Amino acid sequence: MDCIFCKIVHDEIPSDIVYQDDDFFAFRDINPQAPVHVLIITKKHIPSVNDLADKDSGLMGKMILVAQKIAAKEKVSVSGYRLAINTGPDGTQIVPHIHLHLLGGHRLIDQLG
Ligand code: 5GP
Ligand code: ZN
Repeated sequence: MDCIFCKIVHDEIPSDIVYQDDDFFAFRDINPQAPVHVLIITKKHIPSVNDLADKDSGLMGKMILVAQKIAAKEKVSVSGYRLAINTGPDGTQIVPHIHLHLLGGHRLIDQLG
């Protein structure tokens, strides 16, 4: 499959790995927008939030808990962080493989849109 994030999961493209388990893979963003900028992706190829089904509810719940663990590992739990999933053109989603941005390590701009 011609998906850069699937290639990262299968180690066909190198990445700075932060965490992995049976369902998720997390690595540092190549173009960080904050001192801590980790992308948490599903190992399964799901293009976007629009493609989630009822059976994925547990998976997406676990994704938040993975983010919580990574935040602790990156020492931003107390200082705080932002979790974001961009979706579609207006959501500025560039890579069509679902991913959760974890941003922290400095005060983020107080603007979501
Ligand atoms: P999006 O705009 O789709 O939500 O975010 C995609 C993110 O993936 C961007 O922040 C971009 O910097 C990151 N990215 C794109 N290609 C690569 C890559 O090959 N390696 C890594 N580590 N990050 C990437
Ligand atoms: Zn993919």
